[in-house]
Amino acid sequence: MPTIIKDDTAGAKTFPSHAKVVIIGGGVVGCSILFHLAKFGWKDVVLVERDELTTG
Ligand SMILES: Cc1cc2nc3c(=O)[nH]c(=O)nc-3n(C[C@H](O)[C@H](O)[C@H](O)COP(=O)(O)OP(=O)(O)OC[C@H]3O[C@@H](n4cnc5c(N)ncnc54)[C@H](O)[C@@H]3O)c2cc1C
Repeated sequence: MPTIIKDDTAGAKTFPSHAKVVIIGGGVVGCSILFHLAKFGWKDVVLVERDELTTG
């Protein structure tokens, strides 16, 4: 299952030590990449968003 992390202090405590793909930014492009990788079965994927999803 892909992981979405809000890039703040609380999120940093649970930040994975490794991932196959790390997507920086949860705008339409980042969310679309995450969606399509998950659709093709990629599980070790992390999306990091500094604010709220799609706030760009
Ligand atoms: C005022 C305005 C009005 C617009 N109106 C329209 C419209 O009506 N129709 C339309 O089709 N398009 C519109 N656009 C364009 C549209 O918003 C962009 O084309 C689209 O959002 C770009 O998507 P993106 O995923 O590349 O970037 P963004 O949507 O900007 O997403 C980037 C994300 O990355 C995050 N981020 C950035 N740096 C970091 C970091 N270091 N760590 C973690 N996260 C980070 C940001 O918080 C943000 O959520 C508008 C743009 C603006 C500025």
